[in-house]
Amino acid sequence: MTMTPSRRQLEAYRLKHAAEEGRVIIYRCGCCKRETALLAADMLNVWDPDLKVYDPPTRCGFCKASGRMTVRFHIPTKFDYGTLRLRRPAGRRQLWKWEMFGPGMAD
Ligand SMILES: [Zn+2]
Repeated sequence: MTMTPSRRQLEAYRLKHAAEEGRVIIYRCGCCKRETALLAADMLNVWDPDLKVYDPPTRCGFCKASGRMTVRFHIPTKFDYGTLRLRRPAGRRQLWKWEMFGPGMAD
C-alpha cells in the first residue's frame, strides 16, 4: 500500500468530500508565494460541490503567473485557533436591474 494517492483517487476526490472531512484547502503560488486558505465547507455555496479540488487553478489571482499554483489540504485543530488565517465569503452583493412589469411578477 502506497502513501501517495493514485491519480484515480485524486480524480474521485471532490470539494464535497473535502467539506465532509472539515478540510481547509490551501492554494499556494510558487511565483509570488502567496497562500490562500479556504474552508471547503464555505466553498460548497460558491463552487460546484463536484469540483476536483486536487486540480489547482491554472493562474494565480494575485500575480497572474500561470502553472505555478499548488494545492494542499489541512485538517484544522484547536491548535490553529488564532493562527490560521482563512479567506471566507463575506456575503453576496445584491444586483439590481430595471425591468417592465409583466406576467408572473406579482404572483
Ligand atoms: Zn502569484
